[in-house]
Amino acid sequence: MGASSTIGPLFLRFLGLLLDIIFSWLAKLPLAFLSTRRSYHLTASLSPSSDRRPPDYTLATRFLGHLAKNGLTGDGRVHKSAARHFLFWLHKRGIALSSVDESIVQRFRRHRCRCPRYSAHQLSTDFYLSCTRRLVRHLEDAGDIPVAGGAGYIDAHLNDYAGDLIGEGYSQVTWRGHYSEAEHFSAWLRFSRQLGRDIDDRVIEQFVQHRCRCPITRKRAKLAEPTGQKHRRRGARHFVGFLRARGVLQPAVVSEASEDHRIEAFRSWLERQRGATAETIRRYVHEVTRWLCKLPSDPATYDAAMLRDIVLKQPQSRSRSSVRITVTVLRAYLRFLSARGECRPELAYVVPPARRRSKKLPRHAAQTTIERIVASCDTTTPVGIRDKAIILLLARLGLRAGDVWALRLPDLDWANGRIHVKGKGRRPSMLPLPQDVGEALLAYLLQARPRTSEDRVFLRVLAPFRPFASSAEIAGIVSRVLARAGISEVPTGSHVFRHSLATNMLRSGASLDAVGTVLRHSHRSTTTIYAKVDTAMLQRVVQPWPEGASC
Ligand SMILES: [Zn+2]
Ligand SMILES: [Zn+2]
Repeated sequence: MGASSTIGPLFLRFLGLLLDIIFSWLAKLPLAFLSTRRSYHLTASLSPSSDRRPPDYTLATRFLGHLAKNGLTGDGRVHKSAARHFLFWLHKRGIALSSVDESIVQRFRRHRCRCPRYSAHQLSTDFYLSCTRRLVRHLEDAGDIPVAGGAGYIDAHLNDYAGDLIGEGYSQVTWRGHYSEAEHFSAWLRFSRQLGRDIDDRVIEQFVQHRCRCPITRKRAKLAEPTGQKHRRRGARHFVGFLRARGVLQPAVVSEASEDHRIEAFRSWLERQRGATAETIRRYVHEVTRWLCKLPSDPATYDAAMLRDIVLKQPQSRSRSSVRITVTVLRAYLRFLSARGECRPELAYVVPPARRRSKKLPRHAAQTTIERIVASCDTTTPVGIRDKAIILLLARLGLRAGDVWALRLPDLDWANGRIHVKGKGRRPSMLPLPQDVGEALLAYLLQARPRTSEDRVFLRVLAPFRPFASSAEIAGIVSRVLARAGISEVPTGSHVFRHSLATNMLRSGASLDAVGTVLRHSHRSTTTIYAKVDTAMLQRVVQPWPEGASC
């Protein structure tokens, strides 16, 4: 025990001596090895801003004050940290505030952070980057960071844009959605420095695809769910359209690409050589642009396999009739190319013509079902009133969806109780307006149709009150009416009313010629398909085969 009590002080003295030696040795080493903090002072002393003054944090304080004034209710700590960290880093690197742009922000994001009080982990989060960009945006607005072309160049039009959206009659939810996407787009344009006057589809597509860490106001300062690509595209396009209309941006430049030229030529070929109507041309061009990108740009290099792929490799969801349109349009397009000498003429025969499915009687519904559908329209709402008028035009007059879609106010001849129908191709005709159809139309015009300068009869019930984009939307209305009424036995599409009218007319004794007149068929053979309807009736009147009778 006694020995250990003497060893204790001796050991401590030895330890003290050893530490002295270590410290004196360490003191001789270059400072850089000692600590990273000191190494910073060493490098900082080499950089332009070698002063030891602390960075100017008043900018961060002003930024936070600005956020608080603009309703930052959530976590301000991250904003504060990002702002002070960024200012500290700028100071450390000797980067002048006036030279800050997105590339500096990206350098800040990538720096190997050994700054006191800040963590490298935090630096790598999306929210941190968004906060940093927000600070930069604030400093740009305040004039501390100059922006070529002016910081508020696009933003200045946001207020007017909101007014314009409200003026168009959009609901609050819709206009707010459009507006916030426009705000987003202009924030993105600014920090990605795309402030030129030539914002085209390519720029919009970049915006649509970007990974969002934009400096935009979000709920409670949190990153909101990123908006979908569809919303971004629609919002940006709408805003760009507005800016173009005001002359802020240049009008859309038609691309000089040969593909576009070819489509234009196809359009005029359809019109001049084939006498196609505007609606047919629209459909054909729409179909061509759907798959043209899958083909090589030079038609001379087309081969049979790639053309067949256009027809065969289609989404499962496409209906038989849609595939038939692909075949028809592809054949027409190949004939057009070979007429111009751009592809081998034999290619036009590579795709065989699409045949109609069968010569079966078209699918139809009984008269009672048709009446049930008409009665199911809820005439207490504007949508119901409009839908009833549409259904009655289809059911009583056998109009095609395209006829209903194209109907204009001057086509309604109230004085003579007639309706002027443009018809398929170029065969206009006058039809008598039955009492219930006339009443439904009048109810729609007086009670449900939005007040606008449009002369199309049927318009959307939601803003913007424009006509439907195509006749396909009339078919959409029919399927919604059927779904609401819970009628599932009727085939979808608006043509079912036309087929049912024909079938029911024949069943009640009308002649095929009469049916053909009502349906405005130009060829008698088109109507003969309905002749099969009489098989059921014939079976009722047919005499039994004299089976058991003796000869
Ligand atoms: Zn750092
Ligand atoms: Zn974004």
